[in-house]
Amino acid sequence: MGYKKLLDMHTHTDNSPDGKAAIMHMCECAQSLGLRAIAFTDHCEVDDYAGNKDSAKCVKQAYFEAKKAQNVYRGRLIVSVGVELGQPNFDVQTAQSILTEYDYDIVLASLHNLRDRPDFYFMDYNNESVHDILEEYFKEIIKITKWGNFDSLAHLTYPLRYITGKFKIKVDLNKYTHYTDEILKILAYSGKALELNTSGLRQPISDTMPPKSIIKRFKELGGEFVTIGSDAHEVKDIGSGLDTAMQMLKDNGFNYTTLYQSRVPMPIPIE
Ligand SMILES: [Zn+2]
Ligand SMILES: [Zn+2]
Repeated sequence: MGYKKLLDMHTHTDNSPDGKAAIMHMCECAQSLGLRAIAFTDHCEVDDYAGNKDSAKCVKQAYFEAKKAQNVYRGRLIVSVGVELGQPNFDVQTAQSILTEYDYDIVLASLHNLRDRPDFYFMDYNNESVHDILEEYFKEIIKITKWGNFDSLAHLTYPLRYITGKFKIKVDLNKYTHYTDEILKILAYSGKALELNTSGLRQPISDTMPPKSIIKRFKELGGEFVTIGSDAHEVKDIGSGLDTAMQMLKDNGFNYTTLYQSRVPMPIPIE
């Protein structure tokens, strides 16, 4: 990899329902790839947490395993103990209680589904109004950013992974600028990070989430912090696309990327 000091701030272990590798194996790989830091951000779908005993158990296990890995790798690899909170705006009380119970380094916020709907992954976009779905998606994201108890907003434009990537339906994001600008402004004013998620680069959508135009706009609107994450769910994807993401940040006027420890942003120069 061309850039030094690579940070992967979004990965999943086998403590996520769709994760495949054990945490120690992932740490070994991250270290051998020469990463400086890795964040483990296993899933916690907030809207499914209260009624699902397994979910609470996985979140607990993920937390303690990441804490342990952090100690084992101290001095060799920075391990950020994190979580990806899905739909925190659907049940802010539960989200709050999870964040009180666990002492995370980094909290990602994401939206994988609309209210009373399946994950965007499972939707049939040939029988839906893509425009209505995206409007509702961005409105929910605005609620998440206003709620604000997170560090980085994960994979903004996530539905496009399926709408454009899988169903090949073209979307003009310019139609949603009033929403995305509001989201970016709230992030910038409140000192939150926007995530540059590289998983789409290795998937049919062939683009980052969000795309470059939104990264550029974030800078114009005063955004300071961007975290980069591969969203790896298996060992082979750790660190993938980080170089491309670093270059994209540099091209758009960002001189550093961001590491989170104890929920404090630490700018790391891109070099
Ligand atoms: Zn996600
Ligand atoms: Zn994820």
